[in-house]
Amino acid sequence: MDFKEHIRVIPDFPQEGISFKDITTLLQNGEAYKESIDELKKLVKELKIDVIAGPEARGFVVGAPLAYALGVGFIPIRKTGKLPYKTIQAEYALEYGKDVLAMHVDAITEGQNVLIADDLLATGGTIATCVDLIRQVGGNVVGAAFMIELQDLNGREKLPDVEVFTLTQYP
Ligand code: 5GP
Repeated sequence: MDFKEHIRVIPDFPQEGISFKDITTLLQNGEAYKESIDELKKLVKELKIDVIAGPEARGFVVGAPLAYALGVGFIPIRKTGKLPYKTIQAEYALEYGKDVLAMHVDAITEGQNVLIADDLLATGGTIATCVDLIRQVGGNVVGAAFMIELQDLNGREKLPDVEVFTLTQYP
């Protein structure tokens, strides 16, 4: 399947100069959504994965069904102030703006193999912060899987020791 056919590109959103890749059009199509998760599952099939972690909010939409398909648990990484129990936190920079990510201190146990999942890899700031949180509690990051990669933003450079898997790429 050509996933790009199902991704809507919106110029100048959320600010001028950003070409936003809108995955809601892919998600609303059952066949495309299912195939995207099935394909991600194939891409990571060689990995030993104990649990998947995904950042709010679109990381949930990719990570949770992938976790279900693999029969492993899912760890939500959220914006600060949303998780009810004790958290560890780290600041991150987006392609636009800045924020803080948080994870429950007991979400991952030492030595667990963690796959990170999100919709899109841009500058890599979000996922580098997820890697940092996971490693702080002793998790072993075995890879990061995305529907989309924006190649010109060189996100992989921020993840030098993480194996990156992407379904479709834009310049
Ligand atoms: P990064 O931290 O790699 O620069 O940005 C990736 C994060 O920002 C992802 O969590 C993703 O959801 C969001 N993001 C940035 N640009 C886009 C975009 O064009 N489309 C979508 N769907 N998400 C984006």
